[in-house]
Amino acid sequence: MRQFWPYIKTQQGLFALAGFALITKVLSRLIAPWPLKLIFDFVLVPDAHNAELDWPLLRDMSSQTLLLVLAFAIVATAALRAMSAYVSLVGLSIAASRVVTEVRADLYAHLQRLSLSFYHKTKSGDLITRITSDMDTLRSTTVNAALPLVVDTLTLISMVVVMFWIDWELALIAMGILPLFLISSIKLTKRIKKVSRQQRKRESAMAATAAEAIGAIKVVQALSLEGRLEKIFGDDNRQSLEDSAQTQQLSAGLQRTAEILVAIATAFVLWRGALIVQQGGATPGDLLVFITYLKTAFKPTRDLAKEAAKISKAIASGERILDLFDVVPAVQNNHGAIAALPFKGEVAFNNVYFAYESNRMILEDVSFEVSAGERIALVGPSGGGKSTLVSLLLRLYDPLLGQVCIDGKDIRDYTIESVRQQVSIVLQESVLFGATVRENIAYGALNATEKEIEQAAKLANAHDFIMQLPHGYDTLMSERGATLSGGQRQRIAIARAAIRKARIVILDEPTVGLDNKSEKSVNEALRRLTEGSTTFLITHDLRASKNFDRLFYIEKGRIIESGTHTDLMHQSGHYAALYQLQTAMISDRLKQAAAPI
Ligand code: ATP
Repeated sequence: MRQFWPYIKTQQGLFALAGFALITKVLSRLIAPWPLKLIFDFVLVPDAHNAELDWPLLRDMSSQTLLLVLAFAIVATAALRAMSAYVSLVGLSIAASRVVTEVRADLYAHLQRLSLSFYHKTKSGDLITRITSDMDTLRSTTVNAALPLVVDTLTLISMVVVMFWIDWELALIAMGILPLFLISSIKLTKRIKKVSRQQRKRESAMAATAAEAIGAIKVVQALSLEGRLEKIFGDDNRQSLEDSAQTQQLSAGLQRTAEILVAIATAFVLWRGALIVQQGGATPGDLLVFITYLKTAFKPTRDLAKEAAKISKAIASGERILDLFDVVPAVQNNHGAIAALPFKGEVAFNNVYFAYESNRMILEDVSFEVSAGERIALVGPSGGGKSTLVSLLLRLYDPLLGQVCIDGKDIRDYTIESVRQQVSIVLQESVLFGATVRENIAYGALNATEKEIEQAAKLANAHDFIMQLPHGYDTLMSERGATLSGGQRQRIAIARAAIRKARIVILDEPTVGLDNKSEKSVNEALRRLTEGSTTFLITHDLRASKNFDRLFYIEKGRIIESGTHTDLMHQSGHYAALYQLQTAMISDRLKQAAAPI
């Protein structure tokens, strides 16, 4: 409640209206049995007791008129109850929906700002479950289970007060069952809550498995992993069913206990009440009111049993949502960070150390300076730390020690957004969003004009093939751009990078997996993209990096050789050995290709 309070406060008016309607509903429940009592005591058996009708207006009526008035009162009370129930339900539903909408929007915004280190540890399916179904559970339970429970609890308290006022002895007998009920309900609710939480976790795991499999359906089908994934999904599904059956069983058990306890209390009250009525201590109508109150007042106890599972599930959902809100982004704007001015493009790493996990250093004492417009190629064995190095430049992570500087200033002194906006990136497998080609390119710079989009596409060698698509720039891309070839996808991604007109460009193996023709076209586009910009190219193909201004040979998190291709070849070190090996392999392959089968 404390954490959701700021959201609830924005709907104060609606909650107040719903609250007022709730109190009216409780009052109408309190009034409900009284017309019947009056009919009993003053119309049906007026001589059975010596009571006088206290209200002067009713006292002077004939019994026929009194009967008519009381019959009308029954209808009026029911109408009041129906109306107040309607207002409270609708008011609360709208207010709760608005609260959930706001919480969900904030949760989504929060999620998008969490650091990559968080996403490496979390399954996307689980996150999606939290933002969709956990939110819905919370909303529907607030309206359908928590609201009735509040009404019932208020009813219980007010009826107990009236019961003590009518006859304290009978009230005490009726209340006798309360401790018994509390003990059994606390015990069972605890177990229900535990199982519900487990079930929620399991549902999340199912969503995660499904999301993972659907996201990589090509690999799943190619490796024939369907059976194995079905088993993982099926196990969770079965166990979730068992959990669900267990909560239902526990909840039904609690409901039955409540019913029996209420029946015992009713029997005692009837037995003792009848004696009191016979002795003239109360009227039959009083006993009627009492028994009706007893039944109504203990409704919450039965409801609590019925709703315990739902409420426990909602509490588990609420906890999962709050857990997410509690995650603090590892990379945040520093206090006093300023928006960076347009970069010139000078980059420096000063004694940078970095680790994903505390026990394994990935970058160690990395230092270099790159002047504006210089073209740097990062080469070396797989796992050496090349991609990690460039992700520090984008502030996807912060170094453990040392500084990453752009234009002579630590990038942590700039706001994250202003740094990322001025760096373009093309990855090995470019992601296209489920939007039009035009929108996909414009994602690079959201305020780009039509003309700029087309210019970027032309620069990226993409304009011609885009024009041949069924709807040109308005063609809708499917998820992951599956309708385009690898080279075409890559060229749209280059257009997206180009539209930023960034002074710093990162290319992470952008031509891997492309055939010669596509590679040529993509390389041409990349050359235009990087013209005049500080460029970092990660590549395993040493032919691609040969003409770069400088090459950094990175191994085990350190830059162990740096210089031009000619410098490094003269050094006859790791780079030279790798280059010779690659050249030999290529000429071998060419010879094999030329040989007859
Ligand atoms: P490649 O050429 O294969 O792309 P690379 O030189 O770019 O490799 P990185 O991707 O930077 O290397 O990885 C460097 C090391 O960091 C590897 O040993 C890798 O296992 C580890 N690593 C990368 N990402 C993570 C992560 N999110 N969590 C933990 N370790 C990681």
